[in-house]
Amino acid sequence: MGLTSAAVKARARALGFDLCGIAPATSFPELAFLREWLDRGYAGGMAYMARTAERRADVRAVLPEAHSVIVTGTLYNTVPAYADEAPAPGVGRISRYAWGDDYHDVLKGRLDALVAWMHTESPDAFEARAYVDTGPVQERVYAQYAGLGWIGKNTCLINPDVGSWLFLGEIICTLPLQPDAPGLDQCGACTRCLDACPTGALVDAGVLDATRCISYLTIELRGDIPAALRPAIGNHVYGCDICQDVCPYNQAAPVSSDPAWQPRAGLQHRRLLDLCLRSDEEWRALLEGSPMRRAKLDGLRRNIAVALANSGE
Ligand code: SF4
Ligand code: SF4
Repeated sequence: MGLTSAAVKARARALGFDLCGIAPATSFPELAFLREWLDRGYAGGMAYMARTAERRADVRAVLPEAHSVIVTGTLYNTVPAYADEAPAPGVGRISRYAWGDDYHDVLKGRLDALVAWMHTESPDAFEARAYVDTGPVQERVYAQYAGLGWIGKNTCLINPDVGSWLFLGEIICTLPLQPDAPGLDQCGACTRCLDACPTGALVDAGVLDATRCISYLTIELRGDIPAALRPAIGNHVYGCDICQDVCPYNQAAPVSSDPAWQPRAGLQHRRLLDLCLRSDEEWRALLEGSPMRRAKLDGLRRNIAVALANSGE
């Protein structure tokens, strides 16, 4: 008997993944929306999205003989959202996915370990490609079809039991594993995320204009943040969690004890003035192995300046 889905999922859990499901490696209607989203200009300066759009339309563009997509979800929720700082002026906010180690490195290692185990266990030879976020895969669509949850109106993958503080990763493989049933949309009539977004970036249910999103503006954008959007940045210095913080499915989200995601000591006290006064050497040491490197030091200093201006300090 070949390798079973149940065996793969059990091994995934043993390797530290909280969720694991299997989607068929096929084309889904939601995958076609990427082209429309790009045509509307919602990707802003993320040119790599357009460059890889064709490959992102179907995982078989990456691996033509693919039969299955193993999708994993890893909970990174560590402490209640900003409970310590919500009322404090002059304190910077950092998106919680970035408080610990770089998930790309950590999770790619675990996915590679899962693939290596599959090769030792499978009686059949197979090919596989593992990706974490950066690959040419619309991973939320495959996560939904793998039964991990649904894509909420805030565009995040939401699991009905653990919420949306999840890192996704996937293994595209040629093994014909038994797929799971797709996740069902459970947003219902709720519009909390759309109502709470300070920049109006969620232009419709499940439609994000990244050029207005604080996450894009503080992480992906190179150059100046448009003046008209600076006040809405508030005290965010890296990313934004508002549309997830308000989601009812995150109100009782379980907390991960994985050391990889625990907040780094230098990120626990985020007074904007202190962040601003840190030397480049201090920042480089703090950001070693952190996902915050993506914004570059210049970008972080720009964000801190905007947040400081907003704080009035
Ligand atoms: S991350 Fe922040 S700015 Fe972006 S859509 Fe969500 S609430 Fe709006
Ligand atoms: S806040 Fe409400 S509408 Fe938005 S993703 Fe969560 S459940 Fe869906």
